Amino acid sequence: MPTAKRNIPISLPVTGEEEWQAVKQPLMTGWLTSGPFVREFEQLFATRHQVKHAIAVSNCTTALHLAVDALNVNEGDEVIVPAFTWVSTANCALYQRAKVVFADIDINTFNIDVDDVKRKITPKTKAIIAVHLFGLCADMGALKKVAGNIPIIEDAACAAGAGYFDKPAGSLGDIGCFSFHPRKSVTTGEGGMVTTNNDLLADKISMLRNHGASISEEQRHHGAQPYILPDFNMMGYNYRMTDLQGAVGVVQLKKLDKFIGERQKWADYYFRELASVSWLKLPQVTEGYKHGWQSFVTVVNEKVSPAPRNEIMKRLQDAGISTRPGTHAVHMLNFYKNLYGIKADDFPNAKHANDFSMAIPLHNRMTDEDYEYVVTTIKSL
Ligand SMILES: *Cc1c(COP(=O)(O)O)cnc(C)c1O
Repeated sequence: MPTAKRNIPISLPVTGEEEWQAVKQPLMTGWLTSGPFVREFEQLFATRHQVKHAIAVSNCTTALHLAVDALNVNEGDEVIVPAFTWVSTANCALYQRAKVVFADIDINTFNIDVDDVKRKITPKTKAIIAVHLFGLCADMGALKKVAGNIPIIEDAACAAGAGYFDKPAGSLGDIGCFSFHPRKSVTTGEGGMVTTNNDLLADKISMLRNHGASISEEQRHHGAQPYILPDFNMMGYNYRMTDLQGAVGVVQLKKLDKFIGERQKWADYYFRELASVSWLKLPQVTEGYKHGWQSFVTVVNEKVSPAPRNEIMKRLQDAGISTRPGTHAVHMLNFYKNLYGIKADDFPNAKHANDFSMAIPLHNRMTDEDYEYVVTTIKSL
């Protein structure tokens, strides 16, 4: 019996009545910039990710910028970044006029290849950014051994709620950076979070996100000394999160573990049902890692697949199933290619992932029938 065509987007956030009620509260009081809801969101986030400090910002790209700035990354410094990631993982180093040094990835995990990091470290290396791509943590234990005293930033944009040997993402390096873009597991529309256990870094990051001001907007307006204007000891930015977003974040964060649990169940279903599809390599989950399942990213083996990857993606789109490349190889983007004169083949695994990866739909708005339809359609190719 042919199944009726369905329409399954690659991702769809779960927002509704609760988020709507939450966002009304700051609107009714009139306190709209960072305030009590952002503070509550930060506290909940810090507790869930077992860190001393969580500092909300406008998105993960600004989180990454504050991370490198707080670590004093500057002109003449080098920052090691995996070649297969979202472009802003690399851009943040350029914001500080530092040099981006790419490392290749491990094709099985899509995460930074620690052996290549070892080869890329020089006396100028000021920081290493490890990306927990698609919700799977990078091998932070191995990376820390290689890094020695060089600080590690976790780009945990996709990894809210993910774990590495019982420790949450965001608590594994010196600074963690999260995203609440609608493509991630929990969302505030746009939004980000910086995590750290280091008091000095936390202080500096809090000031940098608020123009470099020594006191917060709330302290300033609710304090007993109306004549006080903050002092500014550094050049900062306005990377604040609004309280509207904070209110939504509080509601969303409480659902995070439920979302991941559902996604884990459906990932298991894909593993069971798609194991027989010989041309499709399923994502790897290493023993001891807790995957956050921001995306379920496969790799098409064109040597045995019924069609090239792009043709497969097109056929699935025609059947109403959205797919996307996992992400891009940053070293192959025009800007970086021209800036550093890099060849695509310089990072063969990143290139392979760029050319053959395919995310299939896995999110919390899909029904049983949707998941069955994805499996049946892929098998029928
Ligand atoms: C989404 C993403 C970002 C950027 O997050 P924004 O909140 O959109 O700025 C950075 N790095 C990775 C790995 C991402 O997936």
